Amino acid sequence: MAVIEHWIGGKAVAGHSARTAPVYDPATGRQRHEVLLATPRDAAAAVDAARAAYDGWSQTSLTRRARVLFAFRDLVDRNAERLAELITAEHGKVLSDALGEVRRGLEVVEFACGIPTLLKGDYSDQVSTGVDTWSFREPIGVCAGITPFNFPAMVPMWMFPVAIACGNTFVLKPSERDPSASMLLAELWREAGLPDGVFNVLHGDRVAVDALIDAPEVAAVSFVGSTPVARHVHERASAAGKRVQALGGAKNHAIVLPDADVGFAADHLVAGAYGSAGERCMAVSAAVAVGPGADRVVDAVARRARAVRVGPGAHPDSEMGPVVTREARERIAALIGTGAEQGGQVVLDGREHVVPGHEQGFFLGPTLIDQVRRDMDVYREEIFGPVLCVLRAGDVDEAIALINANPYGNGTAIFTSSGESARRFQRGVQVGMIGINVPVPVPMAFYSFGGWKESLFGDKHVHGPEGVAFYTRAKVVTARWPRPREDSGAGFDFPSN
Ligand code: NAD
Repeated sequence: MAVIEHWIGGKAVAGHSARTAPVYDPATGRQRHEVLLATPRDAAAAVDAARAAYDGWSQTSLTRRARVLFAFRDLVDRNAERLAELITAEHGKVLSDALGEVRRGLEVVEFACGIPTLLKGDYSDQVSTGVDTWSFREPIGVCAGITPFNFPAMVPMWMFPVAIACGNTFVLKPSERDPSASMLLAELWREAGLPDGVFNVLHGDRVAVDALIDAPEVAAVSFVGSTPVARHVHERASAAGKRVQALGGAKNHAIVLPDADVGFAADHLVAGAYGSAGERCMAVSAAVAVGPGADRVVDAVARRARAVRVGPGAHPDSEMGPVVTREARERIAALIGTGAEQGGQVVLDGREHVVPGHEQGFFLGPTLIDQVRRDMDVYREEIFGPVLCVLRAGDVDEAIALINANPYGNGTAIFTSSGESARRFQRGVQVGMIGINVPVPVPMAFYSFGGWKESLFGDKHVHGPEGVAFYTRAKVVTARWPRPREDSGAGFDFPSN
C-alpha cells in the first residue's frame, strides 16, 4: 500500500513520523493508501523551506510571477481529469462534480493571473504643495492553509494561487482523508516553474495544524473546516498575533415562497441538498416552505429525491456518491434516527439504501425529513450528509427571522417570482452569500467567499479582492523633493493644509 509523503522544498519527503492515517475509497470501503501524519519537526522543515524560498520569490518581478501562474493555470486545465479522478477515488463524489470543483478552483488561478493589475496602488499628486502620496502592497511572508476533506482541490485553490501570486510562500495542510490531489497540484507547480519551497504540502492532523500556527515564521493562517476547529484555529493564531481567516460550518436555508415555480424550486432544492452527498459547506440543508402551499413543495421534492441515482462516483450514471468515511455514515444515520424520535416526519429514509456490488461502501440514500422544528438535533447540528430538513413559516418575515436565529450564516437562498420579497430577503438576512432563485450561491473567483456569524472567524473572506488584501499589507508613502535651497517650511505645529 502506497504511503503518501509530504512535499517540502520541491520534492516528496518522508519526514519523521511513525504515525499514519488510512485513506479509503468510499465507494468500496477499502483502504487505498496510508498518509503520513506530520510531527512538529516535519512542520518546522516545511516552514523552513517556505521561509528560505521567501526572499527570492517575494523579490521576483510581477510579470515573472504572473507567467508562472499562467503556466500553472494551463497545467491544471490539462490535468483536470486526473485531479478529478483522484478526488472521486478518495472523497467519493461523482466525477462530473469533481471536475466542476477543479474548474472552480481553476477560476481562482485565473483571477490570480491578473496579479500585476490587482496589486496596482493608488497615487495622489500634490496632496500638499510639492508633496505626493502613494500606496502599495507587499507580501506578508510564509502563509499556512488548512483545508477540509470536502473540496480537496478547490478549497486549497481558494488560498494558495492568490497567496503565491502576491509574493508569499505557502504551506498547505490538506485533509488527511483525501490527500492525493494536493500532491498532484504540487507536481504541477514544479512543472510550471515555481521555485522549490514556494509551495509545500504537509500532511497530518491537529499536531501538524498546531505546529504550523505556533511557528513564529508563519505570518498568516487561512483555515476552512468545521466551526469548533475554526474557532480553535482563530483563537490560537490570534493569540500569537497572526493574521487569520477561519471559515467554519454551515446550515444553509432555502426558502420557497408561495409565488415560486414549485417545479423549478424542487429541482434546485434536490440538486442543492443531495449534490456531493450533501457534503458541501453551501449545501441546502434546511428548506423553509412558506405559506399554505408547503405540502406541494414537500411532495415535489420527495418525488425528485426518490429518483436520484446513487452509486460509485466513477460510474457515469451516478448522480450522488457515498459519504467520505464509515464514521461519517454512522453519524449521519444516527442523526436521522434522532430526527424521527424527536418528532420529524421522515418522508424518505436513506439509511437502508444499498448499492448492489458495493455493500461495504459508505452509501446513504437521499433523506427528507418534514415537520422539523428548531429544537431538534437534525436542525441544530450541521449534518453534512444527504439529508434535507423541511421547516414551515407563515410568511417571508417569519422565514427571515428563522434564518437569523440560526448561529450559522454561510449561504441562503430564496425561490420567488417577487422582486419585492427577494429584495426584502437580501437586505434582511444575516448571511454572507445569498442566492435569488440560485440554490448554491458560491461567488465567482473575482468576488470573495465567506459567511457571517459562526461560519467565519476573522474579518476577511477568501479569494477575490479580500484574498489579495489578506495576503498583503499596505504601505503609504508621503514624499517631497525640495528644490535646492528652498525654504524648508518646517514648523512645530502638526502639518495641515
Ligand atoms: P474538520 O474541521 O474536521 O477539518 C478541517 C481541517 O482541520 C483538516 O485539515 C483537519 O486535519 C484539521 N483538523 C481537524 N481537527 C482538528 C483539530 N482538533 N485541531 C486542529 N486541526 C484540526 O472539517 P472536515 O470534516 O474536513 O470538513 C467539513 C467541515 O468543513 C464542515 O463543517 C463544512 O461546513 C466545513 N466547510 C466550510 C467551508 C466554508 O467555506 N465555510 C467550506 C468547506 C467546508
